[in-house]
Amino acid sequence: MKIFTEPQVTIIGKQQVNWVAINTWLMSEYPDGSGSKWMKVDGITDDSTASEVITEFSGRLCYMSFPNPRPGGTASYIQNLKEPRHGSVLEHVSWNLLITNVSRSLTHELIRHRAGWAFSQLSQRYVDESTAEYVEPDIIRNDPELHKLWTIAIASTHDAYLALVDGLTEKIEKDVTKGLIRSNPSSKTELRKLARQAARSVLPNATETKIVGTANARALRHFLELRGSRHAEPEIRKLTNKLHTLLNQESPLIFGDYVKIDLPDGTWELNTKFQKI
Ligand SMILES: Cc1cc2nc3c(=O)[nH]c(=O)nc-3n(C[C@H](O)[C@H](O)[C@H](O)COP(=O)(O)OP(=O)(O)OC[C@H]3O[C@@H](n4cnc5c(N)ncnc54)[C@H](O)[C@@H]3O)c2cc1C
Repeated sequence: MKIFTEPQVTIIGKQQVNWVAINTWLMSEYPDGSGSKWMKVDGITDDSTASEVITEFSGRLCYMSFPNPRPGGTASYIQNLKEPRHGSVLEHVSWNLLITNVSRSLTHELIRHRAGWAFSQLSQRYVDESTAEYVEPDIIRNDPELHKLWTIAIASTHDAYLALVDGLTEKIEKDVTKGLIRSNPSSKTELRKLARQAARSVLPNATETKIVGTANARALRHFLELRGSRHAEPEIRKLTNKLHTLLNQESPLIFGDYVKIDLPDGTWELNTKFQKI
């Protein structure tokens, strides 16, 4: 059994720009070529800033301002979206995130974020948890007595889960033979699902899980603010820190305004002057 203490997050998918479509449309709207001026003046040439390009393009469409580049380029353009909280433009760009080595407590908090998010999480009904890993909070791990208590509790619930799966499988097989189960499981997979879905009731919040989350930039900013704050739970705050580092590399113009503030307890929080745009 592995014990995790560090959440992992990686970007498995992200935005691309369809330059051909953009250029074709701009030339049809502005046959004199003036519609492409913002790209040259703002210095947009590289797909690595796809999220920023699409954000700027969407914002410029609102006012058909393509022929009027801003001094300061895309950086200034996106800053100017944040100041008046023109946040809906940030909903056009998304990232696909793979989040692992996290507890079910963390994902329960994560999935409370509804607007602009999509989730797909490991199923405890279909996936065997006999090899489950667990996530230990730092405050427990750093105290030998509490760590010992926690380890005993986890081992005990893990054993209970294994015993319940065995007992339930036996019972369900008998009940099927006697015709007592109406849904008549047709396959081993279905049988195992019936056993696991009941046995999982004893698995603790500390059970490790995996989740794919897809979110747009506006939803991600809101998440960074709520879950990177000093009031957030430490495990999700660690995830938020890692996520912010990744997003800041991806798109510094969208996420670069967050600062990390040290707290007296040795941890930190994320803060920005552009809250909830
Ligand atoms: C420190 C902390 C402690 C918490 N403690 C608890 C707790 O004890 N119990 C508990 O149940 N939850 C708790 N929560 C969860 C919290 O109440 C929210 O459910 C969660 O943070 C998701 O935030 P949200 O609804 O703003 O975000 P999202 O769902 O990401 O929504 C973003 C924004 O969209 C708007 N929005 C989304 N859905 C709607 C809607 N249906 N109607 C109108 N506007 C909408 C809101 O402006 C919202 O802020 C806690 C959260 C934090 C950060």
